[in-house]
Amino acid sequence: MTKKHHFPYKFLPAAILAVALFGCSEKADESGDEGLTAVSDEPVVEELATMDADNPFFTDWDTPYGIPPFAAIADEHYRPAFEAGIEQQRAEVVKIRNNPEPPNFENTIEALQLAGSELTRVSLVFGNITNTDTNDALQELEVEIYPILTGERDAIYLDQVIFERVQAVYDARDDLDLDEQSMRLLELTHRDFVRQGAALDEDAKARMKEINARISEINTVFAQNLLKETKAFELVVTDQADLSGLAPGMIGSARAKAESKGKPEAWVFGLDRGTYEAFMTFADNRELRRQMFTAYRARAAQGNDNDNRDILAEVAKLRAERAVILGYPNHSAYQLETRMAKTPGKAESFLLEVWKPGLKKADEELAEMQVIVQEEGHDFIIEGHDWWYYAEKLRTKKYAINEAEVKPYFELGNVRDGAFHVANKLFGVTFEPLEDVPVWNEVVEPYTVYDADGEFLGVFMLDYYARDSKRGGAWMSTYRQTSNMQGRNIRPIITNNLNIAVPAEGEDTLLNYDQVETLFHEFGHGLHGLLTQVRYPRFAGTSGSPRDYTEFPAQFMEHYASQPQVLEVYARHAETGEVIPQALVDKIRAASTHNQGFKTTEYIAASLLDLSWHNLLPNEASAVEDATKFEDETMTGFGKPGEIGSRYRSPYFAHIFAGGYSAGYYAYLWSEILDADGFTAFKEAGDIYDPELAARLKKNVYQSGGLRDADVLYRDFRGKDPSIEPLLEIRGLD
Ligand SMILES: [Zn+2]
Repeated sequence: MTKKHHFPYKFLPAAILAVALFGCSEKADESGDEGLTAVSDEPVVEELATMDADNPFFTDWDTPYGIPPFAAIADEHYRPAFEAGIEQQRAEVVKIRNNPEPPNFENTIEALQLAGSELTRVSLVFGNITNTDTNDALQELEVEIYPILTGERDAIYLDQVIFERVQAVYDARDDLDLDEQSMRLLELTHRDFVRQGAALDEDAKARMKEINARISEINTVFAQNLLKETKAFELVVTDQADLSGLAPGMIGSARAKAESKGKPEAWVFGLDRGTYEAFMTFADNRELRRQMFTAYRARAAQGNDNDNRDILAEVAKLRAERAVILGYPNHSAYQLETRMAKTPGKAESFLLEVWKPGLKKADEELAEMQVIVQEEGHDFIIEGHDWWYYAEKLRTKKYAINEAEVKPYFELGNVRDGAFHVANKLFGVTFEPLEDVPVWNEVVEPYTVYDADGEFLGVFMLDYYARDSKRGGAWMSTYRQTSNMQGRNIRPIITNNLNIAVPAEGEDTLLNYDQVETLFHEFGHGLHGLLTQVRYPRFAGTSGSPRDYTEFPAQFMEHYASQPQVLEVYARHAETGEVIPQALVDKIRAASTHNQGFKTTEYIAASLLDLSWHNLLPNEASAVEDATKFEDETMTGFGKPGEIGSRYRSPYFAHIFAGGYSAGYYAYLWSEILDADGFTAFKEAGDIYDPELAARLKKNVYQSGGLRDADVLYRDFRGKDPSIEPLLEIRGLD
């Protein structure tokens, strides 16, 4: 079983309450804490935008389920909506600040949680659309708006009077008779203020604001540079012989892409992750593989206008400085404090515990692949651009399995229904297709979701296909947050995004097994968002739980994709309807540990790289002159083999330099301790749908978000702490 590391969604920088995409989904904000919103008495802009009657953000939405009226939202509606939203939020926060009543839970803590609803509404739509259907105008607005939102957020968190009110309520907490959820909100709100710098002196606060604004600005530039660099490259093939090895579906997509670019006689391959991996795996032409590999790894480090090297070094430096101001040795220590791992040392030693067996396994894999090279009569030594290709050959040889044989059993609609089936068996959840509701793109499939007792849980919108205006990767996100305050039980609107290539006209959309797992993964995040029964957005669902725990409910679902009784339901041949033969299932399962040495190594390399950047002290970060050189030296220091690259090189490591995963990329593997151990509980019970375990899992994990500390939630489900052995076993590293 391979774990997914797709892009966590991007980062709605922090100004808003808890907008998080989870990549995996979510938008995480730069600080790592989801928080509140901001305050200032100054007008937002010189001249307030006139309230345009046509602007959908200035009206209530009478659409079904309150789904955003996408067709009515034009690019020019966002700016005035942001301005009005900021204005409203400021007014609300000033009211909290200047309240003559003594501070209490309702007039301070809950009021802060409620503030900024209009700003949240526009931010969520904007944050999603700029990831799924962006354009130049929206990209310009991103660069402009995110630093403003960060400033608004800082204005709240660094406001002395508001902090004194929060502190007063916090100090009195034991006498307030709060229930568990309200106490949790109070503790997290207080912690957010302290961690944002509320207790600092005025000079330090001023510097914090400068740092946050600058980071917010360059995070966006980093992401945009990467998108430009990824889109700019085209491998144009004009000789049919150069397509040797590639699947007909992929060739069809490349032809369609060429036609859309005005090159009807050619085939065009881009650098989106799906195309890249498939090309590296199947293209027989070694020179073309080398070109793709080189281009992919050179992105945003080519000395042109899109170069990210100086930008990322500056981010690392600013983060280090900020951590020191807040009283931490470095950014990693700051980030890890509120995570399950607690300290960078603990995260790193965990990584190294898996790194060594991973390297050993990779060595064995390399030796086996080199034999194939020799058998083919070649005399070259395997290099980076050969690994994927020969790993696939080795897989075919050892497990007699190939993608062309497997893919017809994984038709997209069937796989989706398989995921729905698992949710129904585990949690009693049902899904009903929604007709005639607004969508942001015609390929989007909307559903309503209901709990076992028929209670409405939310709207789930699936956007599975790749397009040029969409960022790469896979993620879950939110169009409307759940909240249950003041008698208004608002249910969420959740999305899942994948980047599956659009098939040629009239063809089925067939997935490889990796894509099947990705679909189940994002679906798991989706359930975490949909099932939530938390009252406050601050700790609801995916965005409300710690980064190194929040992948657990997603990765847990991946295990189900390969279970025989699940495959039997969904893995049906696209043309014949025949259920996948048991022999093929056995092969897929036997092959599940294949290439895990490589996968483990490239992933841990990236995780160690991330921690290394963020373990830097300010003077060390300032001393970095060449980001690429720093990376190479760091990787050499850990003994990374040359044939395996870090999954991300720093200039395109958007998770950590543009997203919310800084000092947190290790989180996927950390969460894997939990999903491997948690799924083992079901195996030991002899029933992958064991009702008792499923009920505890639903209650303590999928419904509870960040209600309690992650280790407590896990124990409440599992009845004990997790152990690392199931992870090593599943990866074949034991
Ligand atoms: Zn994820």
